[in-house]
Amino acid sequence: MLIFVCYALFLSIPKLLLSLLQLGFLKKESAKEPYILEKAKFIQAAHYASLRERLSIISTLLDLVLVGFWLLFGFSALERTLDFAPLMESVVFVLCFLVVQFVVQLPLEAYQTLVLDKAFGFAKGGVKLFVVDTLKSFVLLLVVGGILIFVLSWIILNVQNWELYAFILGAVLIVSLNVLYPTIIAPLFNKFSPLEDAELKQRINALLMRVGFKSEGVFVMDASKRDGRLNAYFAGLGRAKRVILFDTLLDKISHESLLAVLGHELGHFKHYDIYKMMALILGFFAALVFFVANMPEMLFASANLEMSPQASIIFLLIISAPFGFYFMLVVNFLSCKNEFNADKFGASLTTKEALANALLVLVKENNSFPLAHPLYMCFYYSHPPLMARLIALDCGYLGKNATQGF
Ligand SMILES: [Zn+2]
Repeated sequence: MLIFVCYALFLSIPKLLLSLLQLGFLKKESAKEPYILEKAKFIQAAHYASLRERLSIISTLLDLVLVGFWLLFGFSALERTLDFAPLMESVVFVLCFLVVQFVVQLPLEAYQTLVLDKAFGFAKGGVKLFVVDTLKSFVLLLVVGGILIFVLSWIILNVQNWELYAFILGAVLIVSLNVLYPTIIAPLFNKFSPLEDAELKQRINALLMRVGFKSEGVFVMDASKRDGRLNAYFAGLGRAKRVILFDTLLDKISHESLLAVLGHELGHFKHYDIYKMMALILGFFAALVFFVANMPEMLFASANLEMSPQASIIFLLIISAPFGFYFMLVVNFLSCKNEFNADKFGASLTTKEALANALLVLVKENNSFPLAHPLYMCFYYSHPPLMARLIALDCGYLGKNATQGF
C-alpha cells in the first residue's frame, strides 16, 4: 500500500496536475491573437495539443489503476500461480507484467495513431502498418526483454553486490544500443536509402568535412509511410554514425535550411552532447540500481512481493517511472541549454535566417503549438519552444510575425 500511495502522490497526481495546467494554458492562449502560425493553424495546433493532453490524462489514470492492481493483488496472485525453477519463474513473472502493460496501453496508442493523428493528417499508415509495427515491437519485447530479464535474474541470484554488475550490463546495453540502433533496429521499422541528389550530397559532405564529422553516409528514411512530420538526425556512435534525413523534410525545406538543420545537429556532435547525456543517464541508472539493491525488506512486503530476482526487477521497472519523472527536470534543463548552443553553432555554419526558416517550417508542418505552460515545459520539453529559439537567434522574425501572423 505504501508504494502505491507514494506512486500516486509523487507521480500520477503531479502528472495530472501538469496536464490540467497545460490544458488551461492552451485554452487561454488559443483565444489570444495568434503568433508565429497563421490563425487557422494556430487554433488547430492548440486543439491538437489539448486532445493529446486529454489522451495523456487517460493514460496516466490507466497506469495508476494498473500499478495499483499489481501492487495490491496482481503480484501475489501471480506468485501463487507460477511454479517454475527460479530463473524461469523470474523471466515469466516479469514478462507477464510487461505484456499486460503493453496490452493495456495499446488501445490508447491505436487511438492516437489511427484516429487522432489521422484526423490531423500526420499518420499515413493505416491499420495494416499499425498492426505490423505493433507485432514487431511485441516480438522485440518478448525476445530482447526475455533475454535481458534472464541475464539480470542470473546476476541477482548468483553474484554478490549484484547492483555493480547490473549497472555494467545496463551501461554496455545503452552504449551498444546507440551503436546498433541505426544499422539494426531502425531498419526493422523503416527503409533507409542513400541520398540520391548529388548536388545536395556534395554540399552536405562539404559541411561534414568542415566540422570533421566522419560517418557512414547520408541516408533518406521513408518516414512518410507512417507520419507526415519532419525531422533529421544523426544516429549511432563512433564510425557507425549516419546522417538520417526524413523524406518528408526533403520535400518541404530549401537546401539552405536543410544544411542549417544539419549544422544544428553537428553542433551537438561538436559539443559532445550525446556523450554528456549518456553519462547523465548512466548516473541515474546507477542510483536506481543501487537504491533497489539496498531497499529494506519491508518495501518488498508492502508490494506483496517476496524478495526474489523478479521482485527486484519489478521494482526497478516501477520505481524508474517516478524517479525518471523528476530526473527529467535535470535532463530537460541541460538539453534545452544544449539546443540553444547547437542553434548558435548551426547558424554560424550557415546563416541565422536559414535556421530560423527551418524552425518555422518544422513547427508549421509538425503542427506543434509554439508555447506551453512554463512548469509543463520544465517536465516535458527537451527542446526549448520555438518562440524562445527564434528570440535567441535574434534575426528579426518575431517583430515581423507579431504583426503579420506569419
Ligand atoms: Zn537539437
